[in-house]
Amino acid sequence: MGKASKDKRDIYYRKAKEEGWRARSAFKLLQIDDEFNIFEGVKRVVDLCAAPGSWSQVLSRKLYIPSKLNPECRNGDRPLIVAIDLQPMAPIDGVIQVQGDITNARTAEVVIKHFDGCKADLVVCDGAPDVTGLHDMDEFVQSQLILAALTIVTHVLRVGGKFISKIFRGKDTSLLYCQLKLFFPRVTFAKPRSSRNSSIEAFAVCEDYSPPEGFNPNDLYRLLEKVGSPCGSGDLDCSSAWLEGPNKVYIPFLACGDLNGYDSDRSYPLPTSADGSYRSLDPVQPPIAPPYKRALELKKASSSHATAVVDMDSLTLS
Ligand code: SAM
Repeated sequence: MGKASKDKRDIYYRKAKEEGWRARSAFKLLQIDDEFNIFEGVKRVVDLCAAPGSWSQVLSRKLYIPSKLNPECRNGDRPLIVAIDLQPMAPIDGVIQVQGDITNARTAEVVIKHFDGCKADLVVCDGAPDVTGLHDMDEFVQSQLILAALTIVTHVLRVGGKFISKIFRGKDTSLLYCQLKLFFPRVTFAKPRSSRNSSIEAFAVCEDYSPPEGFNPNDLYRLLEKVGSPCGSGDLDCSSAWLEGPNKVYIPFLACGDLNGYDSDRSYPLPTSADGSYRSLDPVQPPIAPPYKRALELKKASSSHATAVVDMDSLTLS
């Protein structure tokens, strides 16, 4: 599609260029803010999967630039914005850039260092893998990115903070919703108008971060370290033995019956009579209307028909 025809067909593509946004995605974050007021009181933000940088531009224009223009706001009081992506990004006013992989557990440490021990008020993540068009596959890879983002969130977000993440709607959406609800009492899946209806993309808006009591962020961190590592390789422990507190779930499992009883997985010798023979007993009550009954009737009918045909043939021959 040529540039002019794309300008005509995609209003957000055209508007993004007119307003100086690097990508049309900027409108998605702006529309989420219109609905949820996500920037209120925000001083520290992490923008995960930020390239080419239109969300970072929104953060800069909404948070950093106004503070820069405010003569009463000193350097140290200005909002802190940290943006991470696999790809390098052209500079943006007030945005600290980190080139890195969010699925690498160490990336959380890099972010934490930039905040000097303070926690973030908001984490946004617009991460997307290279879409294959195979919805199950795309949804799975996307869920790995959300797990990575949530791991970083549990390390850097302050209690009461917000997390906005791109999601792909699919068969596991309700599971994802329940998992996010463990950490946020308010979770809404939003679809901004600038996100095409034909796309399975939506955004989880998670408010009021409150991790469950006893939750240890390091457990999620260790889980992330195992993502992509083949089970049983090296010294990796693929069991959940390392999980603690509410992160470890014990499923009640009870073995019933006397240990001296028969083992259902073993073969036992057949009981024989005095002459060494064995007589197999009929079932006590055969099924009255087994599903295979009709099949047996049809088979019987067709074999008697075949016999009749053979009889006719033999008559002809004789
Ligand atoms: N929000 C961005 C904007 O407004 O310009 C657009 C983000 S773009 C849809 C998705 C980004 O996710 C890509 O730049 C890609 O490099 C990044 N990404 C995908 N997987 C990543 C990973 N594991 N770690 C860091 N970034 C990743």
